[in-house]
Amino acid sequence: MWRFVAVGTTVIWLAVVAAACGFAYTCTPNSADYERCEQQRQQYEDAQRKAQEDAQEAIRKAAKDAADQAIEEGKKQAQNAFEQAINDAKQKIGDALGSLVAQIPFFGSGVTSTQPPQTPSLVLFSDLPVTLGKDDYVLWYGNTEWSFCDRYLHPRDPNDPTTRPFYEALRGMHDGLDFGLPMDPKKPFVGREIFSASHTLGEVVYIGTSYGAEPTALMIKHGDYVVLYGHLSAVLVQVGQKNIGFGDKIALSGIGNGVSHLHLEVLPASDWQGKRTRINPVPLFAPSLQAQLVEKAAKSPVWNRFHPLPNGKWGTPQDQPNIEPTSAPQYLVPSGNTESEKAICKQY
Ligand SMILES: [Zn+2]
Repeated sequence: MWRFVAVGTTVIWLAVVAAACGFAYTCTPNSADYERCEQQRQQYEDAQRKAQEDAQEAIRKAAKDAADQAIEEGKKQAQNAFEQAINDAKQKIGDALGSLVAQIPFFGSGVTSTQPPQTPSLVLFSDLPVTLGKDDYVLWYGNTEWSFCDRYLHPRDPNDPTTRPFYEALRGMHDGLDFGLPMDPKKPFVGREIFSASHTLGEVVYIGTSYGAEPTALMIKHGDYVVLYGHLSAVLVQVGQKNIGFGDKIALSGIGNGVSHLHLEVLPASDWQGKRTRINPVPLFAPSLQAQLVEKAAKSPVWNRFHPLPNGKWGTPQDQPNIEPTSAPQYLVPSGNTESEKAICKQY
């Protein structure tokens, strides 16, 4: 970039023009106006030197400004390119992983499931959100005996507002998949690391104390789904954060309802704040991961038994229905008043 240098007098401009044309100023000795001529020559040479210095300074400054600007733009471009490359790479890794795990055949067998899972039309989860250890276990989503009996044994008393049957509003259904994560006895207050398990990039849409997943719930939107991670002791991302990638560390597990565990829910992205339909998360895990869930659920066979319904309906982890809390109260469960149901619930 060129900049004009403001200079003061006509003499100086003359000098600049003269310098550009190669003009040299000379005075004839002993002539009548020699002294005045010499003074002018001195002024001319000073002005010429000054003009050259100013021009050089202007060029140097312009070059420096241009270089600084180029560096700044280059930095920005490099930063943008870097972020884009990272996000592209995250997405590619996720896609590759998603298609890879979708091809791995189901190999599990568990006491709670007699049927292999259907291959999901869409794999939302390419991994489990937590690395499961030998003492960790899984509690199923859906019409489990304990959630059914919680509703049945602890009905809401209209005269006692302190009664809180957890599963009444949910028609006796457990609305998430629990990962039982016993605390390390040596570090009882340090939660386990929770990772984003979807190969689809996510955006953090909620962090807070609502949604019945105290102390803290974290919700991440992945395309058509919102995943809720509940009962967290710490959250490592921020609301509005985008490009949550596969394997990113997002939270630490905590304690909910007196039990250290992670509660994972899936909701439709179209209505995660409204009536809050819950979707069965199990079929959204890749088949090989469903096998791991089955294996870990087998550690708690009593708690994972599904409440018996006619025709074996809702008898497996995979065929549990969506839960729509605004539907009629009797929509999802039988009366809960039969002798056999009373007998079953006495165990809980
Ligand atoms: Zn739960």
